[in-house]
Amino acid sequence: AVNNRTISGKDAAENIVERVKARTAELAGAGIKPGLAVIIVGSDPASQVYVSAKGKKAEECGFFSFKQQLPPEVAEDRLLALIEALNRDPAIHGILVQLPLPSHIDAGKVVQSIAPEKDVDGFHFINVGKLGTGETRTAFVPCTPAGSMILIERIHGKGLSGLSAVVVGRSNIVGKPMANLLLAANATVTIAHSRTSNLDAVCRQADIIVAAVGRPRMIRGDWIKQGATVIDVGINRVLLEGGEPGKTRLVGDLDFGEAAARARAITPVPGGVGPMTIAMLMANTLRAACLAHDASAPF
Ligand code: NDP
Repeated sequence: AVNNRTISGKDAAENIVERVKARTAELAGAGIKPGLAVIIVGSDPASQVYVSAKGKKAEECGFFSFKQQLPPEVAEDRLLALIEALNRDPAIHGILVQLPLPSHIDAGKVVQSIAPEKDVDGFHFINVGKLGTGETRTAFVPCTPAGSMILIERIHGKGLSGLSAVVVGRSNIVGKPMANLLLAANATVTIAHSRTSNLDAVCRQADIIVAAVGRPRMIRGDWIKQGATVIDVGINRVLLEGGEPGKTRLVGDLDFGEAAARARAITPVPGGVGPMTIAMLMANTLRAACLAHDASAPF
């Protein structure tokens, strides 16, 4: 059941998108239109859904939105040449390659070929390094942890001094950048992963817990400290219990009901971190356009 401790990612995301729209409208007066290019290889259904949602949101924000669909067998060289052309295109401020890529393509090489100032996913070594060294003014931060951080700020404000944060998961796209953001906000940070022992005890000491594992309902209610803030990044599709055969629904890495009984605040799945991810992509693209034109950005 959704209670008043639920942190609505939907509301927070709408708020960000409204601010993006307002600044984009102002920039139009100066002849500046943020441009986002999204490249998708192959026809993975989940990727198609994400890409079309990103394109729609970009248009809603008043951006120039460009989508390039490439066949699954496309040569790596062709993809790299396309990125090179977009790197040089002044109408494009943000470039995103939807992952995963087919196995014959070196995803790392592709991601690193994106110009760092157009890397709105924040995966380029330059942006990773900037975040890691606290150069947040010009860094592009990966959208999911950036969005999670805004939800945490809704509860705790900007500073997390004296609070202990546990991030479960250490991926380059969620766990590690999340830990860096929490550290930059002065939290005392622990990163847990599949080799962590006594994960339950580690979680129990967290004032703020971020679950980014990808295992349905793995983190139990009694692992949550009373009054903790809980951010559930996980998106897991599971069969609907007692429903029609084959029907599925989305759940997070926590059992929402169990965790909500102990938490001070908790994000639902869906409607929590998910909408924030796409909103932050819009914010990053707007910021890329502003930085390119030496204009001030609201983020
Ligand atoms: P990865 O699979 O890359 O990383 C998962 C992490 O969880 C790894 O660090 C892994 O540890 C750790 N892990 C796995 N099993 C356990 C375990 N039993 N105990 C403790 N830690 C464990 O996933 P991502 O970071 O890409 O994504 C995590 C989740 O977030 C997924 O459900 C994904 O769908 C979701 N997601 C949601 C987004 C959104 O928009 N809301 C965006 C991106 C992701 P190890 O490193 O040791 O293997």
